[in-house]
Amino acid sequence: MHTPKSIAQSSLLSLIFFVFTASCTRNALTGKKQLTILPESEVQSLASAQYVDFIKKHPVVAVQNSTQAAMVKRVGERITAAVNRYYAGKNASGVLNGYKWEYNLVNDPAVNAWCMPGGKIVVYSGLLPVSLNENALAVVMGHEVSHALLQHGNQRMSGSMLQQFGGLTLALALSTKPAQTKELFLQAYGIGSEVGVMLPFSRKHELEADRYGLIWAAMAGYDPQEALAFWDRMEKASGGQQVPDFLRTHPNDAVRKEKIKSYLPEAMSYKGK
Ligand SMILES: [Zn+2]
Repeated sequence: MHTPKSIAQSSLLSLIFFVFTASCTRNALTGKKQLTILPESEVQSLASAQYVDFIKKHPVVAVQNSTQAAMVKRVGERITAAVNRYYAGKNASGVLNGYKWEYNLVNDPAVNAWCMPGGKIVVYSGLLPVSLNENALAVVMGHEVSHALLQHGNQRMSGSMLQQFGGLTLALALSTKPAQTKELFLQAYGIGSEVGVMLPFSRKHELEADRYGLIWAAMAGYDPQEALAFWDRMEKASGGQQVPDFLRTHPNDAVRKEKIKSYLPEAMSYKGK
């Protein structure tokens, strides 16, 4: 016989056990432990639904009619080919099984770009005057792909789910609190200015994404050194009344540039690999 108290205790125990075992996952890229209570496969299927929804509201620029859309696709293909080579070299290609890469330019004046879990990459046309050239676009897309591979959004969403729902499974949260769960997702991934509140990524996550992003750009045949000029341009773009969305989720400061300088030799050693 279970008393209500013992049921509460045992469900608390099973939650703790669930969180503990889930928190023991290691990221294939960094080899470090991370708190991801949400299975990546579930996050990817939620991402896929949100992506379809996003694309309905933000029509994609056709590659046939636009050299800019063609450039986004070209950079995306070269970056993801580099990622595939890197993971294959580490015997970790299986991690990428759930990824169905897409690279789209959408007509939207926001200065923004992101990559959802599962590899759906979107570049907003408003970013292109700031990225200015293909090397910088590769740096930005490499950075965004890294956030997905490093499961930064999953970690953020896991933290929010624990905080707000006491660690419900994603399926249960979606069936009981669909709107809130979707909003947590959009916030965790820095997607869509209509959400209003955009969470900046932590400095640790930003620097991690910078480091790997520069490696992907170099492996893809681009010049990662353009990152420094890009962040200068991004800073200038924030001179107006409105802070670019990308800058709100990716705060720029002196530390970032210094760190990028320190990551460049490593990235350059990956050129031609
Ligand atoms: Zn970032």
